[in-house]
Amino acid sequence: MTLHDARTQELAARLAAVRQRIEVAAGNRSQPTLIVVTKFHPAADVLRLRSLGVADVGENRDQEAAAKAVDVADAVLRWHFIGQLQSNKAKSVASYAHSVHSIDRASLVKSLGKAMAVTQQESGRSNMECFIQVDLSEPYPGLAQAQVASHSGRGGVAPQDIAPLAELIAGTAGLDLAGVMAVAPLGVAPEPAFELLAQVSAALIANHPGATGISAGMSHDLEAAMAVGATHLRVGSDILGPRPPVL
Ligand SMILES: *Cc1c(COP(=O)(O)O)cnc(C)c1O
Repeated sequence: MTLHDARTQELAARLAAVRQRIEVAAGNRSQPTLIVVTKFHPAADVLRLRSLGVADVGENRDQEAAAKAVDVADAVLRWHFIGQLQSNKAKSVASYAHSVHSIDRASLVKSLGKAMAVTQQESGRSNMECFIQVDLSEPYPGLAQAQVASHSGRGGVAPQDIAPLAELIAGTAGLDLAGVMAVAPLGVAPEPAFELLAQVSAALIANHPGATGISAGMSHDLEAAMAVGATHLRVGSDILGPRPPVL
């Protein structure tokens, strides 16, 4: 691999196009953090992206992410864990992840807290940023019941269950409450769901002024997420191309 191979040039062009979309959508406002989702793509692609100035990458499976973090071994690069996380993977994830965007239950917070205590004693690394994943498929005003029934939830906690989880994270050493995360429901327009996420975020910030993060927006809906103030975009296929069937 050289920095000028065909794949690097392809990634450079796709990355530039996405950065252009973000710039247009931001206008005069500050731009969100772009997390490039590299799941199912090889460590070599992470290195290529690194050479193109990418500082944040996202992964959704611990086994794959842990192996890539070892292969890439870059102290500046931040790894964001964005997938469903089993508590028994907390120790591994704590060894490389800068953040977890998919916090959805108290037991996971406890496991991550324990894992971070050990990791911080060994390495002195900084706290882990934690985003609470919100289930936006919950019934809410503006989305007809028929539509709600037509799509399945994409993980996360119901908006009314966020407060106790937030308290737990905020009270756990080694963890920082960063904000909320969501994936727009399938099969419906993302705008009303993202509006709800913005309301949920405002309610969280009222009690936790530092938890200003809104992790929302993927390849097809990053503009809609930015319209409600997304601070972290998670973009995969528009930069990496279609995900290969096997690694
Ligand atoms: C895969 C994934 C993304 C990226 O999706 P694209 O449509 O490829 O941009 C974002 N967020 C989560 C939680 C994902 O699993």
